[in-house]
Amino acid sequence: MLCPRTQSTLKKINVGRVPVYVSEACGGVFLENQTLKQFECPRDERGEALVKHLRQFHTELNSLQHRVNCPVCDNTVMLRRFYSPLHVVEIDECPGCGGIWLDAGELEKLQSLMLNEKERALLRHDLMREHDTIEIKGLPHIRDNWHKRSDKVDAFFDIASYITNLF
Ligand SMILES: [Zn+2]
Repeated sequence: MLCPRTQSTLKKINVGRVPVYVSEACGGVFLENQTLKQFECPRDERGEALVKHLRQFHTELNSLQHRVNCPVCDNTVMLRRFYSPLHVVEIDECPGCGGIWLDAGELEKLQSLMLNEKERALLRHDLMREHDTIEIKGLPHIRDNWHKRSDKVDAFFDIASYITNLF
């Protein structure tokens, strides 16, 4: 399996028994379908271990705007999409196998958006108690979509974790 950015061989390692495919040339990583959720929480040992491992190889590449091919599927271009409703982090996803390619530093960015379960539960509790309706000022692009969201409470968590990480 080759790195879609540098064409070097991806190295398969197991992180907490989950296989991941690391590019030691650029610090990118390929994750099989449905395994990203094992690494998205920074407080989880697996997430922390993988970020530390990838940092050793972190390289700034010039051509990150180019589409990449899936390292598993022949001739399949991965689709660039936003990971969260806040449109902060973009990831590459294969329409064929559902695999995910993360460029150097993207896993860290993605982790920074996460709150842990306890924080989410506390926020949810406060929110349900204090707000019949939720109004967030100063984030017009989010407010525009507000009435389309079926789960306003979860949408609020996305915003809350984003704001928390700005400070
Ligand atoms: Zn694929």
